[in-house]
Parts: sequence; structure tokens; C-alpha cells
Amino acid sequence: MAKQEMILLAMDPSPTLDLMQRALSAAGFEVAIVHNRPALDKSVQEAIPSLMLIGDTFAGQDGLTVSSEMLARFPTLPIILYANQDTTGLAKSILKKGLSGYLYPPLKMADIVDEVQRCLVRARTLGDWLRREVKRTTASLEEKAHISETERVKLEAIIANIQDGVIVMDEGQNILLINRAVREIFNLGEETPLTGKSLKAVITNDDLHALLDRTNEGVLKYHEINFDDGRVFNAQYTPIPKIGSAVTMQDISYLKELDRMKSDFIHTVSHDLRSPLTSILGYMELIERTGPLNQNQQEFMQRLQGSVQHITSLVNDLLDLGRLEAGFDTRRETVYLENVLRYSLDMFDTQIRKKKIQLDVEIAPGLQPVRANPIRIRQMLDNLLGNAIKYTPNEGRIRVRISMEEEQVVLRVEDTGPGIPPDEQNRIFEKFYRASNRPDDVTGSGLGLAIVKSIVDSHQGRVWVESTLERGSTFAVLLPAGE
Ligand code: ADP
Repeated sequence: MAKQEMILLAMDPSPTLDLMQRALSAAGFEVAIVHNRPALDKSVQEAIPSLMLIGDTFAGQDGLTVSSEMLARFPTLPIILYANQDTTGLAKSILKKGLSGYLYPPLKMADIVDEVQRCLVRARTLGDWLRREVKRTTASLEEKAHISETERVKLEAIIANIQDGVIVMDEGQNILLINRAVREIFNLGEETPLTGKSLKAVITNDDLHALLDRTNEGVLKYHEINFDDGRVFNAQYTPIPKIGSAVTMQDISYLKELDRMKSDFIHTVSHDLRSPLTSILGYMELIERTGPLNQNQQEFMQRLQGSVQHITSLVNDLLDLGRLEAGFDTRRETVYLENVLRYSLDMFDTQIRKKKIQLDVEIAPGLQPVRANPIRIRQMLDNLLGNAIKYTPNEGRIRVRISMEEEQVVLRVEDTGPGIPPDEQNRIFEKFYRASNRPDDVTGSGLGLAIVKSIVDSHQGRVWVESTLERGSTFAVLLPAGE
């Protein structure tokens, strides 16, 4: 084994060099000798020695410096330095520079061979370990690469077969992945390669573009995408760190259809209910004309009248909601909110006085009008003010404010009523929902705020409530200003 190993002696000619050559050859090593730097470089590069032995001065250069340079290029080459004498700093410098060993006079042949053997064993152990590590790491990398490839194929198969539409994009909104469902939804053909293309260029649907323009808002859960043929999809947008983002889409056409059927139903039923109510009221008036009623009869008639009125207002509310939800409200005029407010407040004047409510109205100067249906705006104001009066106890306070905020007209109706529990504040805008803390003696249908929301929505506005339990509520409506 030693026979194949080549020891390179980089030394100036000297008796020690001869001794070394003899000792190593006798031990079975192949020995090569170089006396200058170019020969040394060439030999290390081409012959690749198993070990290099260098004098502490070599061809006029410092042996340690030459060794450092060699190690910088061939870090696994074992190097032994032959020093002319053993100084205290020698071992330290050798270690510092990363050499494997050193020799110094007086030299015996056995010392030379022993030191060379020792350094070779060490280098071999190190080399074996290094090879093993490289193999192990490569194997594990290969395994990982293999796993991720199969995982990727699996993932693609799952996404391809998911019924919902899935689009994955990079940070520049270019397509990374698009599944079969999306191709079907947008009629993109089964085979056309789309990866790498801009999503906006591939799909020209306005609603989808509007979603892509809103991506700075972060996760978006509800965004409707409408098609001319009546299909409606709900799209969600999710940013994916380090990749880009994903859009998923579900077909909600059947839900929309159900919603429409429900509105139709409410409309028909409410209409059919109104006619008999009108005739009940008519006959009640007639009864009063047939002759004097005793006190009991009069009281019953009054109660009947109250109940019929309650049902009539409920039916009217249902009819209104039906119309609003069906999108029949298309009338638009220039409306000054403060003018409509005056009419509404006039109507509630008696009730406000009766309950001894303190009313403050603050109208900011320079209000702009809104493009709206004045009848619906009046209805919205009536419902909000009506609620504020209804839920505020006697001698409470109501504050109504109208102001401009960034090209939008903002109405605030603040009261000192019972407030609304935080977890119910969104639900009160649902049809028939009445908050759990509403006072027992306050009657209602739970439709007023649903109507307010429908009106505000159809005017591209926003309505919300800020409320503290037992302190009061502020209902705010925001409408875009416009002539
Ligand atoms: P209702 O006919 O019950 O008043 P609304 O749709 O107008 O129906 O309101 C829904 C619910 O919201 C009410 O039942 C009530 O619990 C709550 N609510 C509405 N306005 C107020 C208010 N100003 N103060 C406290 N609670 C309110």
C-alpha cells in the first residue's frame, strides 16, 4: 500500500534531503524532489502527492508561508515542516498554519519514516471521514429531492382534481399553477400552456381583475365573480409568503338562486297578506258605524287596531326588503341628507317630547349631496331614528350628526340606550335578528336594520354600529358624495 504513496520533498539540496530520500525510499514510498517553486506547484497540481515535506527555507522562501499557500489551495494535503532547529514557537506556528507535523535535527531515518507514517494515517482517517460524509449528505439530498418531486406531483394531482377553482400566482401575479376547474370556469381550454403568463392577460373577467386590484388589503374572503350567463362564484384571495398568492373559487350560483327564490316568496306572501289586512281594517271602521259600542267593545277594537297596524308594518317591511333585494331600487337623484333628516325629525317630534329625550342635531357646514333615492334615504333615517327613540329610555339623549369625511357624507345617530352585546353587533343587521338584551317592552320585527343595510348597500355605502353595553350605541352610515 505504501508503495503507491508519493512523498514530495520540497527542499534545497542538502545532506538531510539525501537522508530523507533514502529513508523514505527504503520504507517503500515513491519519492519526488523539487527545488523551486514552479516545480513544486506543478508537482502538487499534477502528481498529487500523498504528503509533502518542506524545509523551513525553500528556494529562498519561508517554508511556513509556502505551506500556508499550498494549504489554501489543497486543504487536505498533509505537510511536514523540517526546521533547522527545535525552537519554542515551532510547534505553535505549525499548528496555527494547519500543518500536520514537523521534524528537526538530529534526525534518524526511523524518525522521518515514523512522522511521515503518522501524518499519512491521520490524513487517511480524515479523508475517509470526509468521503463518508459527502456520500451521506449527497444521499440525503438526493432522497429529499426525490421526495419533494413526488410530493410536488402528488400536490399537483390533488389541486388539479379539486372541484373548486385554484390559481397559484407568483408575486408579479403570473400564473404558477391553474387547475382544471378554473380552466372550465373561464373556458380556457384543457391544453393551452398558461404557466408563467400574467393572470390578468389570460383571464379578462372584470370582477376577477377587481379582486386582483384589491390584493393590498391582504386576505380577502368574499368577492363575487359574475358571468354573463348567470353563474356566480365566490372568490377568496390568500397571500402565500415566499411564493406569491392563491385565488380559490366556489360556485355559489345555486345559493344566489335560492336567495332570489326566497325574495320572490317573501314578495308574493307579503302581497297576499296585505289585501286581507286592508279589508279587516275596513270592516273595523264599519263596526264602529253600526251603532254605539260599550266600553269593553271599544277597548277590544283598539287592541285589534294595534295588532293589525303591527302586522301591516311588518308586511310593508317585508315587501320593501323584497324589492330592495331584488334590485328594483334604481331611482337616483341629488339628495341633501340634512333636508331629508329635517322631515324625519318632524315626524318623530311628538314621540321625542313624550319621552322627554334631549335631541342634539349637528350639521357640518359645506355638506355635499349624495346620488340616492330620496324615499329610501328617508326610510333609512326613519328606521335609525325610530330605533334610537324606541331603545332610549325616558329623559335620555340622542345626538344626530352629519359631516363630510373624504368625499363621503357621514351620518351618525348616537343614543343613550341599552347598547348591543359585542358578539351580536354584526348580527343585528340580519333579517329578524333581535339582540338578546333588548328591553321586553320594546316591540319590533327585527327587519328595520336589515332594510337600512340593504338601502345603504344599494347606494354603495357602509353602515356599522359602535356600542357599549348599558351606555348607548352609535349607528354610522357612510354614503359616497355625488351630484
Ligand atoms: P327591531 O324591530 O327589533 O327594532 P331592528 O332590525 O331595527 O329590529 O333592530 C334589530 C335589533 O338591534 C333590535 O331588536 C335591537 O336588539 C337592536 N337595536 C337596534 N337599534 C338599537 C339601538 N339604538 N339601541 C340598542 N339596540 C338596538
